[in-house]
Amino acid sequence: MGTAASPFPHPIAAELEGVGPKPTVKVLSRRAGQRRQIQATIAASYLIDALVLSIYARAGDIPAAIGPAFAACGLVSIAFYLVLSETGFTERFQDHYFVAPQLIVSAAIMLAFTYIAPEVGVMFLCTLFVVFNFGSLRSPPRQTVIVWTATAFGLAALFLLTDKPISMPHDTYLERVATMLVFVLTIGRCMFLGMFSSSMRRSLYANGVKLREAYKRIEELAELDELTGSFNRRCIMRMLGDEITRGHRINTPCSIALIDLDWFKRINDSYGHPTGDEVLRTFAITVFANIRSIDRFGRYGGEEFLLVLPDTSNDAATRILDRLRAIIADLDWSAFSPRMRVTISAGVATLAPDETADTFLARADGALYAAKARGRNRIASALS
Ligand code: GH3
Ligand code: MG
Ligand code: MG
Repeated sequence: MGTAASPFPHPIAAELEGVGPKPTVKVLSRRAGQRRQIQATIAASYLIDALVLSIYARAGDIPAAIGPAFAACGLVSIAFYLVLSETGFTERFQDHYFVAPQLIVSAAIMLAFTYIAPEVGVMFLCTLFVVFNFGSLRSPPRQTVIVWTATAFGLAALFLLTDKPISMPHDTYLERVATMLVFVLTIGRCMFLGMFSSSMRRSLYANGVKLREAYKRIEELAELDELTGSFNRRCIMRMLGDEITRGHRINTPCSIALIDLDWFKRINDSYGHPTGDEVLRTFAITVFANIRSIDRFGRYGGEEFLLVLPDTSNDAATRILDRLRAIIADLDWSAFSPRMRVTISAGVATLAPDETADTFLARADGALYAAKARGRNRIASALS
């Protein structure tokens, strides 16, 4: 059951509305609409009961005025509540549906009519089930318990302090029809509320799953570089830190490579910055397609990238990088421009005992500088 079509507000939406910034005009008008729908449902419930009471009156069990009086009490309480709702008064409260005050008023009406018309008292007491079922859907548990306690006192007074013959007529055929209707309608209304509450639980669960997925996606986005989809600098540095710790702890080789695109400024100058962006993206996708699942690839800054190669010796890392270099150099870049050529240079370093991230990176950077100095489109390895 969706929020918009339902007279009962969705719990997640309802809770979220309670927190954060002031509700917008749209939210306020939606809430007012929901409150009107809730009141229409309650009014319908009072009118149904008044109809059954008119059958009892026809059977001669109660005065004819009881049914209209009962409906009038219910409708007046609804009208009063609607005034509070439409003037925005209820918005001042956290529970803007005003469930607890309405529960109290409804329970009081039921108890009062049990006292006034005890001949059909069981009917009003049955309606109490509907009232509490309805209230507990939205009312905070503490308030529901308070209203239940007050109602329990009312019932105790009614049963123990008066000797009203609270009963349910079923002698004549008409009385049996009315009494049957009381039970059918009570069970029906309780069933409707139960079905609503289970559909609410289902949609709550579905929303929970969606929220978890959205949260995961947010976490992923917070770790990724927007342009290339590789890890951003903060994330790749954290991963580097983790790998260094692991490398020291279990004494496995760990290598890194600082990769820089050659003459990238010229690419920007010749083909434009947007084409430069596309080249960076294509480069990143190509790297992703050619590294192992254990490798970590992130943007270190500008057109410089860091590749973390766990469990990889210096020789193996140099081989991996040379293979990547060849793949990039052989790529067909003619989709960007017929004469375009893109190459990379990289500096490889392998973790030395007790080495920190700073010196590790500085060595890789030194090797990258050497690769550039030797003519670019090549890989250089740092000494430990
Ligand atoms: P070298 O071979 O020595 O690395 O030469 P280079 O031209 O690549 O080096 P330089 O550091 O002079 O230029 C890097 C250029 O990369 C300059 C900068 O405008 C460009 N750049 C950095 N980030 C981006 C980006 O996100 N998109 C684009 N299109 N260009 C970028
Ligand atoms: Mg460069
Ligand atoms: Mg650079």
